[in-house]
Amino acid sequence: MRTRHRRPAWHVATVVETRPETPNSARLVLDVPTWPGNEAGTHVDVRLTAPDGYQTTRSYSVATSEPGKVVLGIDELPDGEVSPFLVREVRAGDTLEIRGPLGSYFVWRAGQSDRPVQLIAGGSGVVPLFAMAAAHAAASDPSQFRLLYSVRTPAHVYFRDELAALAGPSLAVDYIYTRQAPPGWAGMVGRLTKDSLASTTIAPHQRARIFVCGSTAFAETVVTWLLELGHSARDILTERFGGL
Ligand SMILES: Cc1cc2nc3c(=O)[nH]c(=O)nc-3n(C[C@H](O)[C@H](O)[C@H](O)COP(=O)(O)OP(=O)(O)OC[C@H]3O[C@@H](n4cnc5c(N)ncnc54)[C@H](O)[C@@H]3O)c2cc1C
Repeated sequence: MRTRHRRPAWHVATVVETRPETPNSARLVLDVPTWPGNEAGTHVDVRLTAPDGYQTTRSYSVATSEPGKVVLGIDELPDGEVSPFLVREVRAGDTLEIRGPLGSYFVWRAGQSDRPVQLIAGGSGVVPLFAMAAAHAAASDPSQFRLLYSVRTPAHVYFRDELAALAGPSLAVDYIYTRQAPPGWAGMVGRLTKDSLASTTIAPHQRARIFVCGSTAFAETVVTWLLELGHSARDILTERFGGL
């Protein structure tokens, strides 16, 4: 007999806080009384409805994992239809419609595997990976976690304070600054290369489970290099946020 999967429900979300996350992004904290909680790495659809009834929907990863609350990190694309509205126009007290949780593939579950985990983020692609790192810490899961985060400047780091608090024995964090590094930075400044990827990620022989998230171009480039470095395609999961 075929199992019927119910489509996730639409929920009414009230914005309780909106604040700049980086110079070109916002963090939205949503109160969603009907939200059942979600696995780390999942996303929601956000649906906007104009006064004339026109509707449009975009996907956003959830930075949190608890019932009743959803936190989003939204990068503003200057020419975009939805992201400038969410970053600039939305205010505390506004309501949004969200559907989810969505996605069962790009998720990390506590206790699922004792293999090491390598997270690789470009820009806002860190949102679902931050959720995984936070869930890993909350569960006191013993698997080794490492995050490589490619970002323009220190000011463009999403969840900067939270990542700093998580960094330690259970989460190693490596940054690649593409435009400007913090004072005293000993490493290079510039785009991720295959060599810098190799030197800042778990070695192929350790058979890490690898989660890659960012723009389509970032994810495709990183996956190509991971395969060339000797990682297995079976060990790599990707989430593409779109764009070139
Ligand atoms: C599963 C999933 C999770 C996502 N999670 C997040 C998230 O947590 N935070 C976040 O900021 N975004 C996330 N996105 C991207 C998001 O859904 C939108 O695509 C993005 O906000 C742009 O929407 P827009 O309406 O502003 O731009 P649009 O009007 O849709 O597009 C404008 C132009 O920008 C290009 N474009 C679209 N998306 C991107 C992109 N991501 N990067 C660069 N160029 C792009 C388009 O090709 C187009 O040329 C996610 C996407 C997916 C599929």
